[in-house]
Amino acid sequence: MIQKQLQLVKAEIPAHVTLIAVSKTKPLADLQAAYDAGQRHFGENKVQEMVEKAQQLPTDIHWHLIGHLQTNKVKYMAGFVHLIHGVDSLKLLQEIDKQARKARRVQDVLLQFYIAQEETKFGLDLHEAQDILASDAFKQLKSIQICGVMGMASNTSDQKQVATEFRTLKQIFEQLRNDYFQGQLCFKEISMGMSGDYLIAIENGSTMVRVGSKIFGGR
Ligand SMILES: *Cc1c(COP(=O)(O)O)cnc(C)c1O
Repeated sequence: MIQKQLQLVKAEIPAHVTLIAVSKTKPLADLQAAYDAGQRHFGENKVQEMVEKAQQLPTDIHWHLIGHLQTNKVKYMAGFVHLIHGVDSLKLLQEIDKQARKARRVQDVLLQFYIAQEETKFGLDLHEAQDILASDAFKQLKSIQICGVMGMASNTSDQKQVATEFRTLKQIFEQLRNDYFQGQLCFKEISMGMSGDYLIAIENGSTMVRVGSKIFGGR
């Protein structure tokens, strides 16, 4: 079942878009099934759950932390996490930088933006991000690399609304690339799109989709 769903989703995704299989709350056997079908990028939203799964699964998996992150959890994953999607403060960037340096790594991260019309979603707005990127405190961080942006659209059946929100994130990405990341090839990712809206996200410039229930079933 998982392998079949995975093939269905993969068939809809162009080659330049990375599929992250969001496996939060799912048992190891489900992740192994996706792995056996060739899947290598997995997304989790809780650090402890990701750490436990990573210890028991093949080491060539790329682990993505996609959820809201607390500074005191960064140290547990600093040695192995591939990409941290939900970074929304200077304080978090500083802690990730500190833990990455200790682990002798350069940590790839995405800045999370608030694009939805819902109060529950986390994220920066453009001005907050510009303040961070222009600050001296940010310029001192040498063990992080900002690779792009991440966002979640409103949970609504209004596809026009969802498309508008994704376009907003693409515009934020382009503005930041122009103003702060000229010539930095690593700033290239737009992480947007989930089970219900990944096709709309891809139409509007997504380079990474985070798909859970469509692959693994409901939670
Ligand atoms: C759970 C989650 C997803 C996947 O959601 P589905 O609707 O199951 O595809 C994607 N992104 C984030 C940040 C999530 O927490």
